[in-house]
Amino acid sequence: MPSGRDFNSDRKTSTNRKNAFCSFCRKSYREVGPLVEGPGEVYICSECIELCQSILIQERRKRGVSGMSAASVPSPKAIVARLDQYVVGQMQAKKVLAVAVHNHYKRLISSAEADDVVLDKSNILLIGPTGSGKTLLAQTLAKILEVPFAIGDATTLTEAGYVGEDVENLLLKLLHAADFDVEAAQKGIIYIDEIDKIGKTSQNISITRDVSGEGVQQALLKMLEGTVANVPPQGGRKHPEQQYIQIDTTNILFICGGTFVGIENIVSQRLGKKSIGFMHQNDSEMQMKDGEYLAHITSDDILSFGLIPELLGRLPVLSTLEPLDEATLIRVLQEPKNALVRQYQKLFRMEDAELTFSEDALRAIAKKAYEKKTGARGLRSIVESIMLEVMYELPDLPHGSNYEVTQDVVEGRKQIFTLPVNRKSA
Ligand code: ADP
Repeated sequence: MPSGRDFNSDRKTSTNRKNAFCSFCRKSYREVGPLVEGPGEVYICSECIELCQSILIQERRKRGVSGMSAASVPSPKAIVARLDQYVVGQMQAKKVLAVAVHNHYKRLISSAEADDVVLDKSNILLIGPTGSGKTLLAQTLAKILEVPFAIGDATTLTEAGYVGEDVENLLLKLLHAADFDVEAAQKGIIYIDEIDKIGKTSQNISITRDVSGEGVQQALLKMLEGTVANVPPQGGRKHPEQQYIQIDTTNILFICGGTFVGIENIVSQRLGKKSIGFMHQNDSEMQMKDGEYLAHITSDDILSFGLIPELLGRLPVLSTLEPLDEATLIRVLQEPKNALVRQYQKLFRMEDAELTFSEDALRAIAKKAYEKKTGARGLRSIVESIMLEVMYELPDLPHGSNYEVTQDVVEGRKQIFTLPVNRKSA
């Protein structure tokens, strides 16, 4: 950047120089439209700006991790601080993930240096109820580290040759996320949901063949450990003539998640407590509170649950997520950067209106979501159904108004736009 002068002030759109050419592609103003002018008769057209931008994005992604030095890998504390902006609570899981991810990327850097100490890869297993933030944590990590990210579902994976997805398709998704930049994809993060559903004793009962049980686990094993996989660029097996893309999974971080429904019985049996959910008189002191079992889960419990030992062995970092209680759900509604309340407030502001939620409304929404037993996942559909009518009417309502979602609105006794509207003083 030129020193001693304001470069920005030199840049302007050149609409009046009809005979100017883009200095990069040599196309004329007439062909490509307005050109941005730099100092000294230099011009660039919008097409070249876009091209430069995509080159820079690719470069940044490529360098993402490899460009990091040991000192520039974010510290676990810095990672947790960033996660806090998007994920409410789950402190333990955040810490475990932050340390694991920090070490993972340190490992990538050190493997580039010749050294005799080889750090092992630490794929991660997250256990927690549905809607407690497992996917969100994995996704946010990828965002923080600026690496490609893909989500897959273990239940849709089948052995090659059966209807369903090949394990390689997970890599294809990652490749898509990396804009087919193989090097970037090889340092990405893959989140595999419902890993508990491919256990050998899972509910997946097939009277014919084991199409999604242990065979898939075996295929996954190789990928988790590190293998060079042949990925069909168009997915599926319908194009036998297509060229495969080779992807080395050694440095891909796998985060697997599952709810492990029923594992609480294994844990409580082991601890000699009565199983959860069956309240007998006088037994209450023997019982574990909702979610308390999570803190006691050991690898043995996971094995008894049905995950094969080899798979568990490749997921050495274990963390559990707590179920979200009503108070936490209220925080989820408001606190994250892209919290639902903030999203709706933004939509209202775009219509020149203000939106607020009363405290008892937030409590009522959280209560409804809690009763659904789908964690924070239930919040969106509840809020969406509350807001549907007013979103439909809003553009036609008088501008400059304030709206408040009250408990009555949440519980369907009133429509938000029929409530008295306070006109903003102009
Ligand atoms: P799961 O644990 O089933 O993977 P997700 O991470 O997919 O759950 O969460 C489902 C939805 O709930 C997402 O929209 C996510 O933003 C929200 N959510 C879940 N847990 C949290 C949390 N702890 N903090 C903020 N939002 C959350």
